[in-house]
Amino acid sequence: MADADSDSIAVIGAGIGGLAVALALARAGRAVTVYEQAARLGELGAGITLSPNAVRVLDWLGLADGIRAAGFVPDRQWTQHWQTGDVLRESFRGSDFAARHGGAGYYHIHRADLHALLCAGLAAAGGGLALGKALIDVTADGELTFADDSRATAAIVIGADGLKSVVRGRLFSPLPPHFTGQVAWRGIVPVAALPAAVQALPPGIHVGPQRLFMRYPVRGGTLINFAAFVELAGWEAEDWSIPSTIPELLSHFASWDPAVTAIIAATPPASLFKWALHAREPLEGWIKGRVVLLGDAAHAMLPFMGQGAATALEDAAILARCLVAFSPEMALQRYEALRRERTTLVQTQSRLLGMQLQGRDPASLGRGDLQNEERLGLFDYDAVAMPILPANSPQLQDQCHSD
Ligand SMILES: Cc1cc2nc3c(=O)[nH]c(=O)nc-3n(C[C@H](O)[C@H](O)[C@H](O)COP(=O)(O)OP(=O)(O)OC[C@H]3O[C@@H](n4cnc5c(N)ncnc54)[C@H](O)[C@@H]3O)c2cc1C
Repeated sequence: MADADSDSIAVIGAGIGGLAVALALARAGRAVTVYEQAARLGELGAGITLSPNAVRVLDWLGLADGIRAAGFVPDRQWTQHWQTGDVLRESFRGSDFAARHGGAGYYHIHRADLHALLCAGLAAAGGGLALGKALIDVTADGELTFADDSRATAAIVIGADGLKSVVRGRLFSPLPPHFTGQVAWRGIVPVAALPAAVQALPPGIHVGPQRLFMRYPVRGGTLINFAAFVELAGWEAEDWSIPSTIPELLSHFASWDPAVTAIIAATPPASLFKWALHAREPLEGWIKGRVVLLGDAAHAMLPFMGQGAATALEDAAILARCLVAFSPEMALQRYEALRRERTTLVQTQSRLLGMQLQGRDPASLGRGDLQNEERLGLFDYDAVAMPILPANSPQLQDQCHSD
């Protein structure tokens, strides 16, 4: 027996992308329910960077004040030599940067804080959130089956169920995500536990052959979030919460700048996790009948540009705008046409940047043309204001309801 209205929109997955598209639709007055496998939305012990292209979407969703209150603005960011700590590049992300991007700045934020803002916004806008609903099957007609034997139907199903997407697996491609040859660690360290010289460092990354160590503050600068990446074969477990140990992580960074080893050594053991990084090849299409993919489910990428959540937020804005403006079939087609090329570019460039950052000659990063997210112009993308109608298309104009 279906437990959802057949006119409704179902979103599978309460990650950043799923919550954002649901919030946008709820704010537009659409009946939307998010189905999330987790029984509760717990503490996500990691940080995330929000670049201007992500911030524009969050502002549009009514979260501007919350993001600015919970976020940390890194006035300066450094790229440092792995062993000497020499500064190879310096980037500025303060008020001039924000002014250059129309007021949409650059923030580091705790993931739990971002999730809390999105969830509160969704509840206030009247959107539904059903927890403990693990999707096990979906049809192109919008019929959903969950692990607890319940069912639902929806006019539109948005598969925002992340890297290991069941929606993708059932309807689009049975191929699992592939191991990228990288193992990652994440941890959160109280700033007060670090030596004064390390506390004084601006946020940034240390780059070295086959390794990268990234750090930045969250929660008003009281905690340092870090992620460490190591090219490593032979271990491919992809759960995001596998405990690690400080000696294990130190063994991969033994001869690195003491600032790096000090951060690792100060990590509370219970907040250190590791996982093997997996990614997806671009799909040929994102639509099957009433079902469409969004975020990591559509285009999971390596994290070296910090654009996975940003592109999920861009997807959310464009898809919601299309669903409000066009008939359902046309909305899905316009969304895919507007998003696939960009996300394929970001997927490809993230992999290339990772290879460049972990190359054998880190000092070259200070000299050469690094094709990073800023140089590629990724920050300028405006998912909120860009036209969604194709130019010169009177036929399509007829199908446009409003935007
Ligand atoms: C180390 C690291 C650092 C990163 N840093 C950044 C960064 O700084 N900036 C940035 O923009 N991006 C970053 N990313 C990428 C970013 O985290 C992801 O791209 C983003 O979270 C994807 O969001 P999503 O909503 O598509 O998927 P997810 O966040 O994976 O959410 C999917 C949701 O679906 C649920 N789900 C899964 N299966 C089912 C099912 N069968 N039924 C119901 N629910 C289900 C899951 O429980 C989850 O809640 C980073 C990634 C990594 C690994």
